[in-house]
Amino acid sequence: MSSCLFCQIIAKKIPSQIVYEDDQLVAFKDINPVAPTHILLIPRKHLSGLNEVTDADRDLLGYIQIQAARLAQQAGIAENGYRLVTNCGVEGGQTSEHLHYHLLGGRSMQWPPG
Ligand code: AMP
Ligand code: ZN
Repeated sequence: MSSCLFCQIIAKKIPSQIVYEDDQLVAFKDINPVAPTHILLIPRKHLSGLNEVTDADRDLLGYIQIQAARLAQQAGIAENGYRLVTNCGVEGGQTSEHLHYHLLGGRSMQWPPG
């Protein structure tokens, strides 16, 4: 998906602050952080969002959560707590059409979200 911003970040055609990457995912700092720690985790596979996932993506989705927990440990936010969230569709507040998970921490979160 050459037109997809996050695919271009994966391909390193657009610079980003990558904090972790492997053969399945890339994690990088959000350009507009809304918490002291704000990392985006994205699969290398282009999926437009949760609406597009299938059973074939089960391992990938589980793996993203496991890596998010590891990154939370490494970022030092695991003990106090953090939030892992994916926005889906217009009403979910999704603005980037490549599946991504926000790892947010370093401050108290509110509930319900806005
Ligand atoms: P969402 O609104 O859930 O689709 O999240 C998209 C996120 O991508 C937002 O938090 C943006 O700040 C972030 N974002 C957009 N462009 C970039 C970029 N070039 N590098 C890092 N983060 C970005
Ligand atoms: Zn993409």
